[in-house]
Amino acid sequence: MKLDQASAHLEFDVIIVGAGLVGSAMACALAADADGESLNIAVVEAGADPLRFDGVDFDPRVVALTHASQTLLKSVGAWPLIEQERACPYTDMQVWDADGTGSIHFDCHDVQQYNLGHIVENSVVTRALLSRLHSYPQITLLRPAKVKTLVREEGSEQQSVLLEDGRKLSASLLLAADGANSKVRELANIATREWSYGHDAIVTTVRTQQTHQYTAWQRFLTSGPLAFLPLQTQRQDQWDAHYCSIVWSLKSEQAPELMALSDCEFKQALGQAFEYRLGDVEEVAKRYSFPLRQRHAVDYVQPGVALLGDAAHTIHPLAGQGVNLGFLDVAAMRDEILRACRRQLPLTDASILKRYQRARKSNNLAMMAMMEGFKRLFGADHLPTRWLRNEGLRQLDNVSILKNALVKQAMGL
Ligand SMILES: Cc1cc2nc3c(=O)[nH]c(=O)nc-3n(C[C@H](O)[C@H](O)[C@H](O)COP(=O)(O)OP(=O)(O)OC[C@H]3O[C@@H](n4cnc5c(N)ncnc54)[C@H](O)[C@@H]3O)c2cc1C
Repeated sequence: MKLDQASAHLEFDVIIVGAGLVGSAMACALAADADGESLNIAVVEAGADPLRFDGVDFDPRVVALTHASQTLLKSVGAWPLIEQERACPYTDMQVWDADGTGSIHFDCHDVQQYNLGHIVENSVVTRALLSRLHSYPQITLLRPAKVKTLVREEGSEQQSVLLEDGRKLSASLLLAADGANSKVRELANIATREWSYGHDAIVTTVRTQQTHQYTAWQRFLTSGPLAFLPLQTQRQDQWDAHYCSIVWSLKSEQAPELMALSDCEFKQALGQAFEYRLGDVEEVAKRYSFPLRQRHAVDYVQPGVALLGDAAHTIHPLAGQGVNLGFLDVAAMRDEILRACRRQLPLTDASILKRYQRARKSNNLAMMAMMEGFKRLFGADHLPTRWLRNEGLRQLDNVSILKNALVKQAMGL
């Protein structure tokens, strides 16, 4: 990596704003390929280095990574680092309706796999990607550095950004991976369609009486889905499988009430909402709550500028697809940029971003529509809908061809 120079104007081929999961993966994906070796890449990140959690202290933010995401992380050499730090494979998934008898069980062996995916703490993924990012001399990481404005120069195809510290960066391509409240999206005047799900998510880590059995559990209550996602930590050379990350999505008006409970009362409420499937909730870490919004950028691209990951789309966490969609954006953008490099097209060529948008937008929209459908179906109190969804779950559980097709799609196989 080149040293962060203090000079006022720096020029690159590609500027990536945001070194979260998606931005750091984007930089590594370009640099890791022989066709992208000569690209001079800047990554601008406003925040500090990711925190380190260990022992029974877990990052409250976790992601369920699909096989497709794992393939991308392997291609940049980050996956072995993630496994070395900690990741929890899950072999089964158990989903059931709180309001009836419908349930569905997915087993990795039905689709000839060793697992359905891995639950990994966000900070573990980011740290692994940053470690890889530092190994590429063609990437310059500017951190802490915050994009303040975009500078549009008449007659120039170059994209320029001004940082809060006064430095100016220019490149042929500006890739925004700066999260749900993307500054670049705002500065580029790219509109979004967005609405509140009417849900808040409470996230925390719990220890349960029984082990999680390497299963991702999800109970659909009419107030919203409650997920117990398995985690593991090493204790005296043995894996302790009593810890789960919980994502409890519930109506926004109910969240403050649950947040105000004492730990003891919260453990009771959580155990009860989960039907004590893993026995009592014995310990609970600090709780965090935030509102859930669906957001989709009307356009992912404009000349020289593209949005990736949460900057382009945010969806309900109920199917754990958020960053997996972001990693698919990364793979699509990498393919288009490297294709241009192979064909010796300039990076300002409009076909690169158009092809990226075509590859990703309809796919992301389809996933968002499916999440909205699930949320409405399971949120309905109406008796015929309740009957239908329970019957549907039961039927689906018995039709292995359909069930396996569904699980393969969710795994990105
Ligand atoms: C409760 C919950 C549970 C979830 N569970 C899952 C799951 O199981 N599976 C899954 O796939 N997804 C899940 N997600 C979604 C997932 O966390 C996000 O999709 C993912 O973190 C988005 O990554 P990103 O890199 O696009 O954005 P971010 O992680 O938000 O990163 C953006 C980065 O840009 C930086 N930045 C912002 N503004 C600027 C600026 N002006 N200048 C420079 N840098 C800037 C920020 O500091 C940050 O580092 C969940 C989300 C929630 C809320």
